[in-house]
Amino acid sequence: MQKTIHYPGRRTADAGRKKKKMGRVIIIEDRCKGCGFCIANCPRQVLSVSTAFNKKGYHPPEVVQPAECVNCHFCEILCPDFAIYSIDADDFGG
Ligand code: SF4
Ligand code: SF4
Repeated sequence: MQKTIHYPGRRTADAGRKKKKMGRVIIIEDRCKGCGFCIANCPRQVLSVSTAFNKKGYHPPEVVQPAECVNCHFCEILCPDFAIYSIDADDFGG
């Protein structure tokens, strides 16, 4: 027969859930060479190709879904030109 174990002080599922990590992505547009790595590989589809040109004549990414950024830094790691990075949104008041 199975025994039910009662853990003292067990919290509800919601109380134990971690707050969603939020990020803010920063683009240094004029460093961008428009390779699109960051756009294609963002796991949350935060980025898209901008219609604007930077000073090198490329289309830098733009943030289209800011609320989806989870500050994973993947765009930052992939960018060959150090043109994009993410920060913890809490550092800027969410
Ligand atoms: S930090 Fe992660 S989720 Fe945010 S834009 Fe970059 S790749 Fe996407
Ligand atoms: S990975 Fe870097 S260089 Fe390539 S599109 Fe994104 S910001 Fe621009």
